[in-house]
Parts: sequence; C-alpha cells; structure tokens
Amino acid sequence: MHEFKYVNNHLYCEKVKLEDLARRFGTPLYVYSYHTLIDHFIKLQTAFRQIEPLICYSVKANSNLAILKALVDKGAGLDIVSGGELFRALEAGCPADKIVYASVGKTDREIEEAVRKKILFFNVESGGELENINRISKRLNRVSGVAIRINPDVEPKTHKYITTGKLTNKFGIDFKSAERILLLCKRLTNIRISGLHIHIGSQITESSPYVSAITKMVDFIQRLRRKGVDLEYLNIGGGLGIVYDRETPQTAARFAARILPLLKETGLKIILEPGRFIAGNAGVLLTKVLYIKPTPKNKFVIVDAGMNDLIRPALYDAYHQIIPLKVSKYQSIKVSEKVDIVGPICESADFFAKDRRLPKIKEADFLAIMGAGAYGFSMSSNYNSRLKAEEVLVVKDRVFTIRKRETRRDLISKETIPAFLL
Ligand code: PLP
Repeated sequence: MHEFKYVNNHLYCEKVKLEDLARRFGTPLYVYSYHTLIDHFIKLQTAFRQIEPLICYSVKANSNLAILKALVDKGAGLDIVSGGELFRALEAGCPADKIVYASVGKTDREIEEAVRKKILFFNVESGGELENINRISKRLNRVSGVAIRINPDVEPKTHKYITTGKLTNKFGIDFKSAERILLLCKRLTNIRISGLHIHIGSQITESSPYVSAITKMVDFIQRLRRKGVDLEYLNIGGGLGIVYDRETPQTAARFAARILPLLKETGLKIILEPGRFIAGNAGVLLTKVLYIKPTPKNKFVIVDAGMNDLIRPALYDAYHQIIPLKVSKYQSIKVSEKVDIVGPICESADFFAKDRRLPKIKEADFLAIMGAGAYGFSMSSNYNSRLKAEEVLVVKDRVFTIRKRETRRDLISKETIPAFLL
C-alpha cells in the first residue's frame, strides 16, 4: 500500500500533483511520501506488538537524514553498516543504545567510534572481528555489547546477489564455529555477549525461509543455554519483500503470525532490521522523456534518469513499474506499444525496462519509476559525471527538499590538479 495514486488522470503523492513537482524541481527527482514511510513502520510495530521488538530501520535502504529522523521520531532504532552510517544515525538523533552495527569488514577506526558512542551492540561476523572489538574496547576501557551473526544456511528464494544466509555467502558464522567462539569468548574481558543475529537476504516474499532460520536459532539458543551461555537479544535481520511487479509478499501481520510463536519460544528480546519494507514503496523516481528512438529491432524511450540514479535494474535485473504522470491522452488513444526505457549513460546496462508494453509515450512526457524508495538514491553515483538527483519529501500538501540537487561544483570539489600540471 502506498500514497501514490491517480486523481483525475494525474498521479499524486499524498495531496501533491507529481507533474507540478517535476516542473518545479526538475528531473530526475526522488519523491517520498512521509505517510507511506511511517505507515509501513507502524504496520510492523503493530504486527509484532505482543513482543514489543526494537525495530532498527536499515539505514542502507535510504539513508537521507530526514527519512532517518522521521522514523527515529516514531521510536525506530537504526541498523548501520559503516562509520558513515553511524555518523548519519547520530546526526538524525538516534539514541546510541538503539543502534546495531553489522558488516563483515569493520575497520579499527569504525569500531573505535562505535565503542566510544556506546551503541547497543555490534553484529559480529567473524572470530577475528570479535577479538578486535575486545582489543579496542580494552584500550578504551569499555565493555562492548556484541551479537554473533549466525549464517543459518537457508535458501531465501531471492536474487543471488541479495542472498546472505547461505554458507557460500561471506556473512555470519556457521553454528559449529559460533558455538566454539561463544564458549571460548568468556576469556575476552571487554565484550559482553548480548545476543545472536541473522539476516538471510533481501526481497524475501515468503515466510518459510524465516521459519527455517528461526527454528534453527531456537534449537541453537536452547543448546547454548544448556551450556551456560545466556543471551538477551535475538536479532532476526530484515529482508521482507515488497510488491514491485506481481509479487504477493506476506503482509506484516501474516509474517508476524507465522514467526511470533517461534520468537516467543526463544524467551529473548527481539530486534528486526527492515529496510526495503519500510522505504521501498514510499518513494518514486520522476524522469522526463528526452527522445523516442525507433531502431530496426527496438523502440527506445530515452529518459533523463540513468543507472547512476537507480541501479537496481542494471544490477539485479530488477523490475520497477513505470507509469506516466498524466494518463488521459493515453487512455483516449488506447494504444500501447513495446518499448525499452533507457537512460543516457554510456552502458548497455543503463535501462529501466526492457520489452515493456506501455501506453504510447512521447517526447517531453514525465514518467514515474515506482518502488524506488529503497536502494534507489542510497545506491546512486556520479558515474558519467552526472549530478545526483534532488530528493523531496511530501507530507499531505506540503513539500520539503530533503537533499538539494548536486551542482557541477560539487562534482569536482574534492579534486585537485597537482602543481606540475598547472
Ligand atoms: N540487516 C542487514 C544486516 C542487511 O545487510 C540488510 C540489507 O542488506 C538489512 C538488514 C535490510 O534488508 P532489507 O532492506 O531487505 O529489509
């Protein structure tokens, strides 16, 4: 469910006509619906209210400060994966004791910053990292919370690039090694074992992979308890899928109904780390059609957004629904045609849709690329020296710029020409 709807043949975000935004701010333009964002957070909170979990929104999905602040204000914690994300989380006003930190490659500097800020815990991904957190915490005279990230070896039935809980993936620690580490780490004086963590993948549309993973975790927690290892938290990660095309993902309520009995069995406090579920359908990318280019094989619709703005189609062959901001003329003509919607970048992977049947599109039309709120702007780049897009947040009939469009000066502001070339 989201707040992007047609009213009198014009696409609106909440109470704002998107075509007006495209003209006022220019394109490419990211537009987010505040109420959709918050609604998704509340849906999860409500579905799991029996156990009152800490919901740590996954910053990587959309790390704009305004998005983070909006969620933090509603009680969200944050899941981070770098020193940069820690900085953002704190800037957005997230209490440090609601921050959890995953990543297979935390540097000493990043660990030190997080230890100093007293985050809730690190999601630890290897024995070496655990030793390192202990060493750094000792130097700083602190005791740091850690949760061991388990790789439960389950198949999440999603794209291979976003599968993270199989033993062939770099993430987490297998059960046997984790048990050994947990029993040995009593000698590590400057860490406190806070709990266990899993994150099995992203865009998971069924609950069965979670059920398999959490069932394994319940057994593991009980085995550890028998061996004297007491835990406080189980962090079940994120990964909940959303509708991009014809997927029928489980609702928050159905998901909760399936896994709540298992979670209760653990007797632990529960943490969730959703990203896409909260932000995905809360954002769209607006773009303008530059040219229509028929070739002997295809008809290309060339738009002013590129893979630098939204890389998901190029990276994962991901599907995004693409719809016009104004529909009346198409409906009256009742003509549709198969087109490729492509960007201006010098790569054949620079596409948003291939062989897609769409209403007839002409030059200067505006289009909305739907479901772009998660892993959209946060994965964007300056490739081809393109300026990163502007981001705006819509709250009913009000519109706020939450990130200005970059300028040409921004592009080169960190570069210098050495004196010998001058
Ligand atoms: N937690 C961890 C450790 C992750 O790596 C990710 C995404 O990669 C997430 C949470 C969020 O996943 P999603 O956006 O699918 O909910």
